Amino acid sequence: MTFDFRSLIADVPDFPKKGVVFKDITPLLSDPEGFASAIDRMAEPFVGKGIRVVAGIESRGFLLATPIAYRLGAGVVPIRKKGKLPRRTHSATYDLEYGQDSIEAHCDAFPPGTKVLLVDDVLATGGTARAACELLEQLHGKILGLTFLIELEFLKGRDKLPGRSIHSLISY
Ligand code: AMP
Repeated sequence: MTFDFRSLIADVPDFPKKGVVFKDITPLLSDPEGFASAIDRMAEPFVGKGIRVVAGIESRGFLLATPIAYRLGAGVVPIRKKGKLPRRTHSATYDLEYGQDSIEAHCDAFPPGTKVLLVDDVLATGGTARAACELLEQLHGKILGLTFLIELEFLKGRDKLPGRSIHSLISY
């Protein structure tokens, strides 16, 4: 069955700042059929690939990574904003429009060589996903792919992720 995911994504102009059209996924998350179908479709290309860990990017990535991990029979690892994780972390930095930000994961989040899938809600410029990949590779994870609910193709995020296996459900 093909599901009309787009009808469950709300465009919010000028949020969080002028000029940005924010893709609000909360109508999709709260729709039982839409949510189940989105999780199945995001996980589908990675079924049977031996994924042991699904890494989700704070914070909307957590809402998708967790059910995808359950669907794949994998564990889940949070990639968090700076200063949120309680034990020793690795970090990676990425550029914002003004300045930089960091994301972190626990150093012992998974054993070296673990097959990892990276999940987030939106692929925009690709800076966050690229930093997350750097971080997972610092931990010696083997990244089998990246899966997003939404890809903003006009921002060319894929160009920052050469050679990666990237799957997205809805493109704009
Ligand atoms: P980027 O690093 O530019 O690819 O941005 C990706 C991150 O920012 C993701 O974690 C998204 O949740 C968030 N993001 C970027 N653009 C949007 C947007 N238009 N609507 C909702 N979230 C966005």
